[in-house]
Amino acid sequence: MSKTNASYHAQSGDEVLQALSSRSSGLTDDEVSARLQQYGPNKLPQAPQTGTFTRFIKQFANLLVIVLIVAGVLTALLQHWIDSFVIFGVVIVNAIIGVIQEGKAEKAMDSIRNMLALKAAVIRNGKRRTLEGDSLVPGDIVLLEAGDKVPADLRLLRSHGLAIQESLLTGESLPVEKHTKAVSEDAGLGDRECLAFSGTSVTAGQGMGVVIATGATTEIGRIGGLLSDVQKLTTPLVEQMDVLAKWITGIILAIAVVLLLVGTWILEQPFTELFLAVVGLSVAAIPEGLPAVLTITLAVGVQSMAKRNAIVRVLPAIETLGSVSVICSDKTGTFTRNEMMVVSAVTQDAHFEVDGEGYAPVGDILLDGEPTAPQQHSVLRDMARLSALCNDAEIHSKSGQWGIEGDPMEAALLSFAGKVTMPDGGDFRHDWPRTDVLPFDSARQFMATLNHNHNGTGLVLVKGAPEVILKRCGSVLSGDGSHSDLVPEAWLDKAEALARQGQRVLALAGKLVSAEHTVLAAQDVDNGLCLLGLVGLIDPPRQEAIEAVKTCRAARIQVKMITGDHAVTAQAIGKQLGLAHGSVLTGTQLDALSDDELKQAVQSTDIFARTTPEHKLRLVMALQSLGLTVSMTGDGVNDAPSLKRADAGVAMGLKGSEAAKEAAEVVLADDNFASIAAAVEQGRTVYANIKKVVSWTLPTNAGEALTIIVAMLAGLPYPITPVQILWVNMITAVTLGMALAFEPTDKDTMKKPPRPRGQALIQPALVWQIMLVGSLFFLAVFSIYQYAIEAGHEVEYARTQAMNMLVGLEIFYLFFIRTMHRRSISLSGIRGTRVVWSAVGFVVIAQLAICYIPVLQTVFGTRAPDITDNLLIVLTGIVMLIVLEMEKVIRLNVYARVKK
Ligand code: ATP
Repeated sequence: MSKTNASYHAQSGDEVLQALSSRSSGLTDDEVSARLQQYGPNKLPQAPQTGTFTRFIKQFANLLVIVLIVAGVLTALLQHWIDSFVIFGVVIVNAIIGVIQEGKAEKAMDSIRNMLALKAAVIRNGKRRTLEGDSLVPGDIVLLEAGDKVPADLRLLRSHGLAIQESLLTGESLPVEKHTKAVSEDAGLGDRECLAFSGTSVTAGQGMGVVIATGATTEIGRIGGLLSDVQKLTTPLVEQMDVLAKWITGIILAIAVVLLLVGTWILEQPFTELFLAVVGLSVAAIPEGLPAVLTITLAVGVQSMAKRNAIVRVLPAIETLGSVSVICSDKTGTFTRNEMMVVSAVTQDAHFEVDGEGYAPVGDILLDGEPTAPQQHSVLRDMARLSALCNDAEIHSKSGQWGIEGDPMEAALLSFAGKVTMPDGGDFRHDWPRTDVLPFDSARQFMATLNHNHNGTGLVLVKGAPEVILKRCGSVLSGDGSHSDLVPEAWLDKAEALARQGQRVLALAGKLVSAEHTVLAAQDVDNGLCLLGLVGLIDPPRQEAIEAVKTCRAARIQVKMITGDHAVTAQAIGKQLGLAHGSVLTGTQLDALSDDELKQAVQSTDIFARTTPEHKLRLVMALQSLGLTVSMTGDGVNDAPSLKRADAGVAMGLKGSEAAKEAAEVVLADDNFASIAAAVEQGRTVYANIKKVVSWTLPTNAGEALTIIVAMLAGLPYPITPVQILWVNMITAVTLGMALAFEPTDKDTMKKPPRPRGQALIQPALVWQIMLVGSLFFLAVFSIYQYAIEAGHEVEYARTQAMNMLVGLEIFYLFFIRTMHRRSISLSGIRGTRVVWSAVGFVVIAQLAICYIPVLQTVFGTRAPDITDNLLIVLTGIVMLIVLEMEKVIRLNVYARVKK
């Protein structure tokens, strides 16, 4: 093991196994833990993380902060110590909020990354297991198949049509065919065809290899490959809002400079006061907290989606999910439970029913409703042998519970084989080792193996979709061992009868070959097979998928099932799921349609059967051409193009290949259709919350700005000082705005139609709201200030009340925004959420502190207000809520009428 990786390619597989003290049955647990100690986990070094201090410093590289710092320095030069102190205080608090927000965003991204950790199929203690990629050690035996990402550097020991795309290392974009023969010592990386390199992708075939290097010692580790880059938590919409915030900042600063110049040179007002007013205006009008709050909204969204088993790989998908108008999903495992069981076996002479539970290989075989001894039916035993050999799965029992490894359908076939061969449990895999394989491929819809027994007899065994297998059969096996002529139509009818009961049907066939026949080619299974019979498997729909289909339909989202299964099976399952249109379009029918015809057909069809991944791509494009936002699921390596093309590609986390996961925007942790519906609901929630944050922030800023501008133009004393505005914006507004990021899903979220694709966030309605609320804020703040002055209070008292009014109205407005699209004055509206009330509690306490604590009174220039005056603020808040509510009712009614 001390050898460099460089020489393994020049040695034979056996030599490498020996050098690594390994064997094809894999390492033992003790060996693994010793090696894990010695070599460490199979992880690439992590990109260096930015420290908290650096992150804190980085917060100052921001236009607004620089403006504030300049203002702070100038106020200090003008010897307005307190103002300067507050400005610097705000700058620091702002930076702290920035650091916290980035930390939260990073945590959200980290949790996603951990959920997307690479898995590897290995053989340890002679058994196949699926493990986290980072637990691999040198000497481990790894299995590869199309769609996998190679988890460590491997010396291949077996290769069946294995092809690997290695552009990551060699720059060569075409896949390289791999074999197991040693190559010359000085072969370059790209020519070491007996090695598979960590991080590269298997594009075709199957293979097995022994791990020769892990972690940083792999080829990718040596060239300094790091863990995937940290993604920035943002989406197009949030970026748009960032740009908007920057524009507002720029415009306000330009206005401020003009006002300063005009005020000083033309109106000849005192510079100091003007300067402070201009600083106040800038701070008031600029939505400084907005970007931070929006990032938190996204982080909260990413986390709540992950909690509901949808892992967002590509962040803009959060937004897209919210506007999805059609969800296309696979059937097996997504709509159904993927807990399969063979329930029927049909031979030339009989129709057997199979009993049992789960994957336990125990259960009765029934003939005409009565248990029968399977030994009496030789064809059944042949079917069992085929089921066990033409199969890559394993079943195992752990404290009485039967678990599986590999494809559930194949596991079900193993348990069927166990039931048939009871009690001797025919040790087929020992007696008939596999010589070669044509792995299952959803395009050809069958799998074939070549097995030889110890006397050299060769058997080609094939299982797959009945239509595909029957075409290749010349005869059928009878109970007495004789071969008779096959009538394909009769068998297709038998298959359809099983499918009509929702069963997934497989045909099993085989033929004998000579001992010398050791390579299985596609043409070996083209014809001349002998049919053994059919098996029917059940895979019931998931209860939660039935509910989710209902939810989607209420949300006016179309649901389409796109499956490789038989049309009749798909139709039976579709009916149980409650899909809208019961008719089925098969892959062959689809091929016969032109693009225009397909565009018509997709509108009235919800079930597509016997499809291949290429059909999925056409369907996505047809749906998109109808202006729909499409979500498409996939698991296989060939699904990558349609996942990429879909607006929201969704890959299966459990049974999906790495290739599908990499092409998808979202990965489902539980492969469940209900999780897609939940992700859409979360997507809608995030969008609604972003809208709430923006709708709450912009009008409050507008109200503050209006107050200062009017006072300035009218030459009146400012009803609220710049320092107070800074306080309101940075501390109270960010706290309240942040509460909106945590808003739970509204109960009506999935009762509304999807938002049109690409709809702008800032609609005329929002502009109107900014004007209306801004004016109401301005009116109330000015009025209370004037009222206090007229009541004979000093200016500081009046300003305190003006500031309190501003904060009070912000709180009331928050309750209004929370229920933007329905009645706000309701019990549930007032009850709010814990987050909302905590934010309100914090703000009220903070506000009381700066009004009543003497030191803070000095800092913020406040006076202790009377209780009655405080009540007046609450009363004004209630009046504002009523006014806004009335305006909403009128507006919604007018809107509804116009829409009619
Ligand atoms: P979905 O696309 O909804 O997941 P599916 O699993 O039925 O459905 P495919 O995996 O493309 O779709 O399978 C298509 C057909 O190929 C199946 O109906 C079955 O007849 C056959 N098939 C599936 N898996 C295997 C396998 N491991 N070996 C042999 N044949 C298979």
